[in-house]
Amino acid sequence: MTTKKEPKLNRRAFFATTGAAAITAGTTSVARADGHGDAMVYEVVRTEAEWIEHLDDFSYFIMRKGLTEEPRSSELWQQFDPGTYHCKGCDLQSYDHSWKVPLDKGWVFFEHAQPDAVLLGIDGPVAEYGQMADGGSAVAEVHCRRCGSHLGHLLVLGGNMVHCINGAALDFKPTTA
Ligand SMILES: [Zn+2]
Repeated sequence: MTTKKEPKLNRRAFFATTGAAAITAGTTSVARADGHGDAMVYEVVRTEAEWIEHLDDFSYFIMRKGLTEEPRSSELWQQFDPGTYHCKGCDLQSYDHSWKVPLDKGWVFFEHAQPDAVLLGIDGPVAEYGQMADGGSAVAEVHCRRCGSHLGHLLVLGGNMVHCINGAALDFKPTTA
């Protein structure tokens, strides 16, 4: 088993994400440490070692530890070509180019997700939750319905609800003519 060195990630791009790490890490097959509810068992389940093998370092810490990428660190934020966006953890189609929202903030924004592709949860009781420097607010964590990986957050920006997704959590597949 290889060990991963945590890459430089922005832990407070929007808010602290340490709570997400605790919940995301515990949702594959074990009961949540806080004792609330039953364990969620996802269709795609991997051991920690398998996740480390499956994902590159950057994606691993975002998708399995709940961190947030630095803005503009992924090319996908400015990608508007026709195509579909898939969870890097299990290849489930999560989003479509036609739902992208062109916001100059450096993350990948969508109006909505593919039906039955994502689940919403609450990161955890962190003081910064729901507060952003520019007046927006985070509503919930977005994670993959099939493998449980952390994708990003549901945000309210300028009165509109949008999915704010880490580019490192997505594979873009261009539409072929
Ligand atoms: Zn997935």
